[in-house]
Order: sequence, then C-alpha cells, then structure tokens
Amino acid sequence: MRKKIAAANWKMNQDKASVLNFFTYFNSKGSMPSHVESIVFPPFLYIPYAQELNSKSFFSLGAQNVYYEEKGAYTGEIALYMLKEFDVKYILIGHSERRKFFLETHEILVKKLKHVLKHGLVPVFCCGEELTHRHQNRHMDIVYGQLLQTIFQFPESEVRKIILAYEPVWAIGTGVNATPEQAQEMQQFIRQSINEFYNSKVGDEIPILYGGSITPENAKELFSMPDVDGGLVGGASLQPESFDKIINALAE
Ligand code: PEP
Repeated sequence: MRKKIAAANWKMNQDKASVLNFFTYFNSKGSMPSHVESIVFPPFLYIPYAQELNSKSFFSLGAQNVYYEEKGAYTGEIALYMLKEFDVKYILIGHSERRKFFLETHEILVKKLKHVLKHGLVPVFCCGEELTHRHQNRHMDIVYGQLLQTIFQFPESEVRKIILAYEPVWAIGTGVNATPEQAQEMQQFIRQSINEFYNSKVGDEIPILYGGSITPENAKELFSMPDVDGGLVGGASLQPESFDKIINALAE
C-alpha cells in the first residue's frame, strides 16, 4: 500500500499570527487520520516556530528549498544540516516557481536531489507541463523529459526514496485544476514510465501527489483516482479549516 500524503506548501505566505492560528486549530483536535501523512512546508523563518507549535506531532515538517553545498560562503542560502536541527524531513525540489523565477535548471535539481538523498531526507520532486505543451499534445513528452533529466539519473535504490508531485503549471494558483481524468492519465503514465525505465515495480511504490488548485470542493474526486496518492496544496492550505477538509477527503 502506498502512503497517502497531504502536503501544505505555504510558499511566501503566512505570518506569526497565522502560523499560530493554523497549529492552534489542529492541536484542538483529538487526532488526525492515522493513515495520512500530513506535511507542512513553511517559509524558512517559520520552521522553528512551526516545530515548537507542532506539539501533538500531527504534522511532519518540510522545507521549500535547500542549497546543495554542505556549508560555507553562500550568502543567503540555507544548509541541510540547519533544517535537520529543526526536524525537517522533506524538501521540495523542482517546483515550477523555482524553475521559472529562480532559473533552477535540471542540473541544479539533480545536485539538490543528490544532496538531500545523501543526507537521508525525502525529496518531494515536482514535474509538470505548461499549457502550451498540453495544447500541442506534448504534455506527456515534456513530463517524461523532465523525469529523464532528473530522477532517472539516479539508481533504483535512490529513486524509491523520492515522492513525486505532478503539478501542471497551468493549474498552479490559477483556480483551474486538472480534471481527475487528466491527473490520472498523467500520473499513471509517470508510474508506468518509472516501471519501464527501471525494469521493475519501483513505480508502484512511489507516492505520486497531484498539485494545482486543489480545494476542499474538488479534493475528493481528484483523490479517488487510483494513481493520485495525495495532494500538494498551495492556496487552500493556508487556512487550517480548508486544509483539514482536504486531509479528510484523502482519508475517506
Ligand atoms: C503549489 O504551490 O504547489 C500549488 C499546487 O499551489 P495551488 O494549490 O495554490 O495551486
């Protein structure tokens, strides 16, 4: 059975008051669905605060980025050992906003993957096509190319440790989600591609999340698809009530 995962990507949002509100809301609950791994990716500055507030350990902690060198003269960057000190277990890599605004190339993404895997943390690796690719019916080729240049550079033993997130760029923050059928088609294709590339059943073990305008209203239908193992949620994860509904949709 693959793990079910609900991940909150707060991006460059929230403040101290809203982080407090988020954890106060969840801490007031008696329990969380035991078979769903809930992860929160706060901005770096709020990670220690989130760790402190996560007193019932309802959430695992993730970081939205990391630098691929151990430490040293890299002004403005954050090292992996620093994140580990605050109990961070997951690292987002390959998000389309980092590819677009921070010019992260496949070469950089491979360095980050290598670094994170070497230190025993779990990469949540994002892939996904632009709208023009889909209009040109090239979306499968584009996503396959992204995998080929990144995770397929790793041996089977390492790839098994990665969580994938299919995030069509046209669906991120737009209010236009992929239909459950579109998500299923691509995620099944990704899984099959992994199985074929590694000549094994490795793809069957890897959780593949869907991300892109998930809401409490559309979550249940998206999560009902057999190859959708959970969600990477941006906007709808900022309010605890709405993220709670999404976690529950996954737990059903
Ligand atoms: C994301 O940032 O990964 C994302 C999917 O955002 P949103 O849910 O807001 O579309």
